Amino acid sequence: MKITGVKTYLVQAGARPDLTRSMGADADFRGSRCWLFVEIETDEGITGVGECSGWPRVVETAVQDLSAVLVGEDPSAIDRLWGVLYRAMMGHGLTGTVGSGALSGIEMALWDIKGKALGVPVWQLLGGAIRTRIPVYGHAHTADEARALTALGYTALKTPFTGIVDFDRIAMLRETVGPEVDIAVDAHGPSWMTVSDAILVGRELEAFDLLFYEDPVPPENLDMLARMRDHVAVPLAAGERVGTVHGLRPYIERDLVDVVQPDTGRGGGITQMRKIAAMAEPHGIMLAPHSGSLGPVAEFAALHIMATVPNALLLERIEFDWEGRYDVVTPVLKVEDGCLPIPTAPGLGVELVKDEIAKYPVVRNVAKAPVDNGKAYVPGTADEAVHVQTRRARARSLRA
Ligand SMILES: [Mg+2]
Repeated sequence: MKITGVKTYLVQAGARPDLTRSMGADADFRGSRCWLFVEIETDEGITGVGECSGWPRVVETAVQDLSAVLVGEDPSAIDRLWGVLYRAMMGHGLTGTVGSGALSGIEMALWDIKGKALGVPVWQLLGGAIRTRIPVYGHAHTADEARALTALGYTALKTPFTGIVDFDRIAMLRETVGPEVDIAVDAHGPSWMTVSDAILVGRELEAFDLLFYEDPVPPENLDMLARMRDHVAVPLAAGERVGTVHGLRPYIERDLVDVVQPDTGRGGGITQMRKIAAMAEPHGIMLAPHSGSLGPVAEFAALHIMATVPNALLLERIEFDWEGRYDVVTPVLKVEDGCLPIPTAPGLGVELVKDEIAKYPVVRNVAKAPVDNGKAYVPGTADEAVHVQTRRARARSLRA
């Protein structure tokens, strides 16, 4: 079998209902999300699909460049081709999230082809399934959203803080869902967060018995994570913004987290995600892939990965997403009892619905970040530098 072509499909994904509310009037930000699907064609009529993240409009160009390396190759030589593509990017400084995003979607599509050619689901080729269902967690800001998730059987949810740390809201969510539902808090690695304040916040979060406290400090500086790690008795999670075993290695080797969160669309591919999980396993670190900005193809890939990884924790899922999510692929995944079933069709088990995809041409893929968290450090804004913010203002905001 030979690869005959590589196609890309960009989708302008619409706003998520939670962003519609939390981002207020910032429509520009709400409409900036894109999904990039990849399709690899072969001379035997089998096609494979994958999905890339990491700035999809830019990654599309990377995939198109890399396609010249792929055409004419045997798609079954997945690891060999991954190495060829990786080295082909050497002149661009190896990967970054653009390169690892391109690798992810391409490698995913190669696994899809192999599974279809052999007539088995991808998890069967990865050593077989350890579990048949993957637990998921959803996003909730309000009691109504938390109740909507638990009504679907969700047993875990995540809520953000993007400036003002609303301990009352976390307490309200705990009160709403009761003691049996896990709650996680995502700080999104705020650029204005200091280590000392991250520790203060973390100590107050200890009372909520969290599943994890995610990206409490800027991910650009892992020493900050190391400095707060020893002072906070809350499980920590991080890693969504980097890819490949090389990007995740310091989080794991330095035991900086309890939960590692590579993004399935830019982690470097199915094998890289499994290598990251394998590296984490003897450290007692769990895998909970990031999926917050991803489309539905990467979600299928995550299920195949998590079916075969002993230390898989649970998968992020935007349950109440833009409705187009449920039109652009088939079949549609449905949560039952807080879990997604692992796919059983050959390959990844998902196909693109191209007529639907064509309805959503891309318009933009970047936006000025919303500044409704500008109240975080009075008188600061999201653009304010930490060193000009006063202690009293920060202390007030951290306890709003
Ligand atoms: Mg996050």
